Amino acid sequence: MRPDRFRPSARQGALSFLGRAHPDLPELLLASSRQNGRGFLDRRMKPSRALATLFVAMTVALASLQLDAQSSSRKQTERKSQESSSSRKAHEKILKAYGVYENQALQDYVSEIGQRVARQSSLADQEWKFVVLDDDSINAFTTGCCYVYLHRGLLIHLNSEAELASVLGHEVAHVTAKHPQKRMTRGVLASLAAAAAAIYTGSGAVADLANLGATAWMRGYGRENELEADRIGLQYSVRAGYRPEAMGEVFDMFRRGERFEIDRARAEGREPRVYHGMFSSHPAPDARAVQAAKAAANLEAGPEGGWVDNRERYMKAIDGLTYGSSRAQGIVRGNRLYHAELGITVAFPKAWTVENQRDALIAYTPSKDTLMQITLRDYPPTMGPREFLFSQLRGATLSGGEPIQINGMEGYTARTTSGSPLDNGAGPVRWVVLYRGKSAYLFAGASRSSRGAVPEADGLFLSVAETLRALKPSEYPLAEPYRLRIRTSTADTRLEDYADDMPVEKYPREELMLINGLYPNRKLQPGTLYKVVE
Ligand SMILES: [Zn+2]
Repeated sequence: MRPDRFRPSARQGALSFLGRAHPDLPELLLASSRQNGRGFLDRRMKPSRALATLFVAMTVALASLQLDAQSSSRKQTERKSQESSSSRKAHEKILKAYGVYENQALQDYVSEIGQRVARQSSLADQEWKFVVLDDDSINAFTTGCCYVYLHRGLLIHLNSEAELASVLGHEVAHVTAKHPQKRMTRGVLASLAAAAAAIYTGSGAVADLANLGATAWMRGYGRENELEADRIGLQYSVRAGYRPEAMGEVFDMFRRGERFEIDRARAEGREPRVYHGMFSSHPAPDARAVQAAKAAANLEAGPEGGWVDNRERYMKAIDGLTYGSSRAQGIVRGNRLYHAELGITVAFPKAWTVENQRDALIAYTPSKDTLMQITLRDYPPTMGPREFLFSQLRGATLSGGEPIQINGMEGYTARTTSGSPLDNGAGPVRWVVLYRGKSAYLFAGASRSSRGAVPEADGLFLSVAETLRALKPSEYPLAEPYRLRIRTSTADTRLEDYADDMPVEKYPREELMLINGLYPNRKLQPGTLYKVVE
């Protein structure tokens, strides 16, 4: 469902493990700690660091609980400005963690629709910001007055401006109903759990977000608040003239996604990973809710000129949208990563799965008994590769250390006798660091049930490191992302014909049907706009 990516993080160009739970690999694999510079090695550090963050989160939460208790209007004003200053601070961190999607025309378009909806809200006089994030998740969230974020992956799945307006209306309604604030005060446990989870998964920027309760924001606000946001949000989009049924269509989109995941999980013999976002866990607004929204807006007969849908305008706006990883994140094709901004490529053995996560590149064998990760870090200018690797692996028992040189890059390699995420930290790990430009590429490799001090696939790990090299000029096109293209169907158009072009490892036909809102078996009508990926 989710193509791969590898992106040097904006913060100090450092890469560490990402915070996206992977269902099939040991969770430990996804853990790292940027601060002390270790990869998947060190589990011992985590509890205390997690605790420290919990204490911070708890202090913040207690402070806002106390504020709640005294509710003079002066206090309320203070709270209001506190809220906007905390969303402002979060804003910087969110942009840093995800990156802004670089397409001004699309940003302007989404903002225009957002402003149109927000003008119908009880906070119409506030300054609202609507931002498309460079992330392929199907998600949207708000941090409070008055910031709303859309992941670009959600835009891939929407099919009209009215659908977009209903998503934005829902998020604006969370703000006007003060759900983010309530979460700060009531959701103490939730944010503690979020902080712990992000610390465990280790990405610095993601951990920063967790301190602000961001993980909780992105998961929604619970059934009751979600229903309230649907009801109020629908009123906003209806008052702005958008076709009320569009909100139900967004629900359908999420439901189809869930249905696909459930079918797929059954076929693969695993538990389904159903999306826990804003729409999937509660009922869609029914005909009565739509009627109520029209009545509340005094628009029973519809606005002058009819309800706005703007399917064509929407499809035109998303034509060319990045699908999967972006250029800044690097593109995985087969078993090789191409990264234009870093100017590098690296390859893994055939048949390995390569996953480009937000902060690390992870690759593993089909049996998942051998895995590697590559992270990217800054190195101090005065520090050589050996010293640097030692500093990263502080406290670990090292063996077999030696300097290496690969494709003109200086480096150092060594093994640690423990740290393998495949053996609960007990097995050995091969480490390689290579210096290129201002970045240190840190490789780690481990095999399950390795005996002694040498990982089973040790030679293989070194040979993967040897594939790291500069991109050739002829390879730069391969580092360009896949893009969504909008076409008009004829009577002869068969969506299935485009399935082979889908850059997904499994179920390309289903994925194509999903993004066109046709899954599982609806037919494409002639003369309609449809999406393909090139
Ligand atoms: Zn919501």
